[in-house]
Amino acid sequence: MRRKIVAANWKMNMSLYETENFWKVFDTEISESTNIEIVIAPPFTALYKLSELTAKSQKVRLGAQNMHFEKSGAYTGEISATMLRELFVRYVILGHSERRQHFGETNELINKKVLAALASQLRVILCVGETLAEREAGKEKEVVEKQLRGCLKGVKPEQFDDIVIAYEPVWAIGTGRNATPEQAQDCHSAVREFLSELAGKEIAQRVRIQYGGSVNPSNAPQLLEKPDIDGALVGGASLDPRNFALIVRAAESTQSS
Ligand code: PEP
Repeated sequence: MRRKIVAANWKMNMSLYETENFWKVFDTEISESTNIEIVIAPPFTALYKLSELTAKSQKVRLGAQNMHFEKSGAYTGEISATMLRELFVRYVILGHSERRQHFGETNELINKKVLAALASQLRVILCVGETLAEREAGKEKEVVEKQLRGCLKGVKPEQFDDIVIAYEPVWAIGTGRNATPEQAQDCHSAVREFLSELAGKEIAQRVRIQYGGSVNPSNAPQLLEKPDIDGALVGGASLDPRNFALIVRAAESTQSS
């Protein structure tokens, strides 16, 4: 049984004041939640505040949206895994399409980050997904396989338990246009096949695969009931505590025991 995981990617949003207000509402909304894993990845500037706010509830794990692969050094503007660990961060999102698109991140660079995160006991949410042109050319699985092979090079089979894959079709991110549950399930099962080749069938069955791309409270239930959709990575809808809590509840109600 895979435990569902719902993660919020706040991107470059949320001041400290907004973070506090979010938490007041969200904490109450999820007071009954028990059986799934919830992650919030705020901007770096809100990590400390959120780690203080969430410390008592123990219901939410902290995530970061990026990191550098070196532990320290002359890398102006960057943050290392060691620094994130100091703030009680448990997860780091790597390979998000916005980082690939706007900051030129390649599979090779993401691979270095993945290995560094795992070596520092950070869990990785690794994002993969095709562009609209690639989907229209029928190349989505080929693209995703290449990303997985490139980004996961050198990861040892036992380290796969610290990896979550987020399948995020680029054309669905922030566009309001989500993949249908069938399209998503089709790619998720292909991702699991590729993982089997990389790490063996048994391990691949344990790896959680999130769907991301315009997930909201209305489409979450149908997506999350698919057999290979083990959670969601949520951007826009995670900025509203009530909407995010509704997505958490959708995941809870589709969690098999
Ligand atoms: C994301 O940023 O990972 C994402 C899926 O964004 P949105 O939910 O806004 O499409």
